[in-house]
This record gives sequence, structure tokens and C-alpha cells, in this order.
Amino acid sequence: MDADVAVIGVGTMGSMALWQLAKRGVSVLGFEQFGIGNDRSAVGGESRLFRTAYMEGKQYVPLLKEARKLWVQLENETGNTLLTLHGGLMIGDPQTEVMQNVMESIEEFQLEHEIIQGETAFKKYPQFKLFPEEVMILDKNAGFLRPELAVISAAYRAEELGAEIHRFTKVEKILPDPTGVTIVANGKSYRVGKLLVTTGAWTKKLLPKLVTNIDARRLVLTWFSAKKLVEFKPEVFPIFARMRRGFRLTGAPTLDGTMVKASNTKNPDRVSDPSFLNRDVSLEELMEVSDAVRELIPGLIPDPVRASVYMDGYTEDDHSVIGEIPGMDHTILISGFSGHGFKMAPVIGTIAAELILDGKTNRDISHLDIKRNLVY
Ligand SMILES: Cc1cc2nc3c(=O)[nH]c(=O)nc-3n(C[C@H](O)[C@H](O)[C@H](O)COP(=O)(O)OP(=O)(O)OC[C@H]3O[C@@H](n4cnc5c(N)ncnc54)[C@H](O)[C@@H]3O)c2cc1C
Repeated sequence: MDADVAVIGVGTMGSMALWQLAKRGVSVLGFEQFGIGNDRSAVGGESRLFRTAYMEGKQYVPLLKEARKLWVQLENETGNTLLTLHGGLMIGDPQTEVMQNVMESIEEFQLEHEIIQGETAFKKYPQFKLFPEEVMILDKNAGFLRPELAVISAAYRAEELGAEIHRFTKVEKILPDPTGVTIVANGKSYRVGKLLVTTGAWTKKLLPKLVTNIDARRLVLTWFSAKKLVEFKPEVFPIFARMRRGFRLTGAPTLDGTMVKASNTKNPDRVSDPSFLNRDVSLEELMEVSDAVRELIPGLIPDPVRASVYMDGYTEDDHSVIGEIPGMDHTILISGFSGHGFKMAPVIGTIAAELILDGKTNRDISHLDIKRNLVY
């Protein structure tokens, strides 16, 4: 055996799983096809939103509460600032499913919040235009994460604790058998007891016969400048997610002191082969997000000043899959985070370590079970 465990894909979830496994004294190998913190997948683009009053369903709230503590733990172990909490605004019509999910999360878990509308909204957050049918819900335990630094921090911490990471090493083959798993990467074979696959948007490429459909999808991030940039500093401008007429506009305050992130992440396009991701941003894409910014955030200058393209793995129901791959002994898959997984990464890393070492976790992840009835 070369190690007890191998992790394929040292991106968001892989780096956190390596950290948690190494912390538990497990001998673990990581394989990453590019460098750590690379921008060819779902890591990159300066910030990720952290929210607890959850649009995607209240079943995530316990995981997010735990994730928050683990982000702080990773910060303490590495000395790097990863999570900044200045609150987050969920903006939309309260009758919509996503806004109702936010309210249900708040009510069931008594999350700290404020409901803001009308004149008060205008006074408190003049950066936004709010329509009469809309409300703002301020999630007080929301903020932004620094994705590149977070992944690098977890991977380097894992190495300090004894993990061995093979960079620029693409896994080509996985060969499970009753006593372990053989992995072939860069023409070399490695033998381990258990395997964790965290390959995100690349999952289908590595596992073409996987029954669960995990589509690679393309997301475009865009940044804008502002008439008065001081109004978009983190202390006064929270992260936000806003649903309106076909847009899902999400964004963060200015982090570099010159630009504000505001992106349309609604209905990302399918990517047929992640090796050939189109990283060009079309005029139509830029004009669409520019229109949304002009209408909804009048304090910004609606000419995009920066745009970049990333990918994530999406499932049919937009919830990830976690569990042993049917028909592949000793091999656990954690993938398909569908554009909203970053915030929960450290708790997913913990769950990965538990599933590998104990064969179970006490956390409720039934909505993420790989064996659930996904419609294909
Ligand atoms: C633009 C964008 C914005 C987002 N915004 C948010 C947000 O605000 N908040 C939030 O919570 N979530 C957000 N998400 C979602 C979140 O970033 C992803 O769900 C999460 O990062 C996915 O993690 P992952 O580990 O599954 O994949 P990744 O982080 O992409 O990691 C997969 C890794 O596997 C490697 N790999 C693949 N195949 C192989 C192979 N054969 N051999 C070796 N290595 C391999 C890849 O190179 C990559 O490094 C966003 C995603 C995108 C793309």
C-alpha cells in the first residue's frame, strides 16, 4: 500500500478532506491535475458568498453552522483570514420559493436577521433599487470567503500534518477490487485502501459510466466600478443574492478597493468537455449582466470592467452527491455542488473523513445521498 487513503482532485472539497484526514493521523495522498488553488474549475474569482439563511433549503442550516466554526478553525491553524462576516442581503419577492426557503431557515433555526423594506431599505442600502413587491432579508451570519487562499490554506495545512500531494498529476484510471484501489496517474500506479473522488466539474470525464449525472457548467463572474466606491466597502455593503425576472444577481463588496463583484449566475451553460472550457465572455453575456446592474444597483457604473469564467459540477436537483459509488468498492464520491458548495466545504471535508474512517456520519445528509432518487 502507498497510503491508507487517496483523494483525487485537490480543489475545494478535496483540500478540506485532506486537511481533516491528515488531522486524524491518516496516511493520505492527494492528486491534483493542475496547481493548488487553480482557476480551471470552481476555485477562483476572488470571493465566494457565505450564507446561513439558505435559499437552497433549510436542511443545509446545521451544516452551515458547523462550517462557520470550521472556517474559523482553519483560520486559526493557518493564520490566514478566510471568512469575513459583514452580513448578507437576500433580495426578492417574499412569495418566491427561494425567499420562502430563507424565511423557513430563519424561523426553524432562529437565525439572526432583519427584514428591511420600503423607505428603510432605501435609507440603509441606497446602493440598491428595491421594487414595491420586494423585501431585503439581512442574514447577519453571512459574508464572504477568499476561495483561492482557503483551498491553498487547507492543502498546505494537510501537508504540514503529513499528507502528500501530487501536483500536476492527472488521474487517468481507477481500478477498485475487493482489497483496495489502484490509481493510475501520469503513467504511475498507486495502491491505497480507500479512495475519495472530489473532481467537481471533471467528474464525468474521470467516471464516464457514473449513473448519477454530474454536468459541467460554465459560470461567468463580472466586476463593475462605482460612482462612489466608498459606498461599496465591506463595512457598508453586504454580500447579496437577488432574484428578479430571469436574473440571479449575486455579488460582494469591493475587496481590492477598485471594483465590485456583481454576476448573473442564473442557468449556467453546459460544458461538453471541461478540457475545452470556453473562457471567452460573449457580448450578449456582458450586456445581460450590464442591464441587470443598471436596473438593480444604480450606484454601480454598468460597464463591466472585469470578467472571468469558471466551472462547477451540477446535478439534476442542484444538490450534491455524497456516498460510495455503486459498483466501485472502497470508492466514495463527493461532487455536484451545483454552484453553491464553497461555503460548506470544511464540514464536507469532515463528513468525507468520517465516511472513509467510520463508514458513516451522524450529520443529516439524506438530501445529498448518492442513492437518492435523482431524475435523469
Ligand atoms: C463562478 C462560481 C461562483 C460560485 N459562487 C459560490 C458562492 O458564492 N458560494 C458558494 O458557497 N459556492 C459558490 N460556488 C460553488 C462552489 O465554488 C463549488 O460548488 C465548489 O467549489 C465545488 O468544489 P469541488 O471540490 O466539487 O470542485 P473543485 O473545487 O472544482 O475541485 C475539483 C478539482 O479536481 C481536480 N481534478 C479533476 N479531475 C482530476 C483528475 N482526473 N486528476 C486530478 N485532479 C483532478 C480539478 O483540477 C479541481 O482542482 C461557485 C462556483 C463557481 C464556479
